Amino acid sequence: MSKIFVISAPSGAGKTSIVRSVLKRIPEIIFSISATTRAQRDFELDGVDYFFMSEEEFKGKIESDEFVEWETFYGYFYGTLKSFVNSETEKGNSVLLEVDVKGAMKIKEVYPEAISIFILPPSIDELKARLINRKTESDEDLQKRFERAKMEIEFQEHFNYKVVNEDLEKARENVYNILLNELTKEK
Ligand code: 5GP
Repeated sequence: MSKIFVISAPSGAGKTSIVRSVLKRIPEIIFSISATTRAQRDFELDGVDYFFMSEEEFKGKIESDEFVEWETFYGYFYGTLKSFVNSETEKGNSVLLEVDVKGAMKIKEVYPEAISIFILPPSIDELKARLINRKTESDEDLQKRFERAKMEIEFQEHFNYKVVNEDLEKARENVYNILLNELTKEK
């Protein structure tokens, strides 16, 4: 039976690295590739990490109701494509969505059976250090991401599972076990 998983975390909590490594071990779960208008980072691939598109193209898709949910933050658009999620679930595949907390709440409205996981940084200070270290954002964007992280952490109680990323290996193992357990449950 296909399942829908939603993972959220403040940026810098280590979510992407956890998600990618866990999904390599569970090929039955397909990563839902979102659309975005933000700039492509050096190591990212179009159609793999995101579908990178212009604002015009994104807005066209909003008009034609092509998103399960979409959000704007840091001045960019991010959205989950209906076509992507539906075509995978129709094939019987499970899907994992990596979205912000508000997106996760919307996904739960649309798919109440979705299983949500929140990844927490060990502390706000640690999160700041990780973001600065990552060197992918400008100072202004960094500030916006810190502020947003504080708001996002307040949403943690709305998730089915919480995983603290104190130790990356342990956090990966935790997420892996949650997914595997849920995948093998009947309902
Ligand atoms: P980043 O720019 O670091 O890749 O992502 C910024 C934020 O956008 C992250 O919190 C990420 O989970 C979120 N995000 C990525 N794709 C989507 C999406 O399709 N919908 C929503 N609501 N958020 C998304």
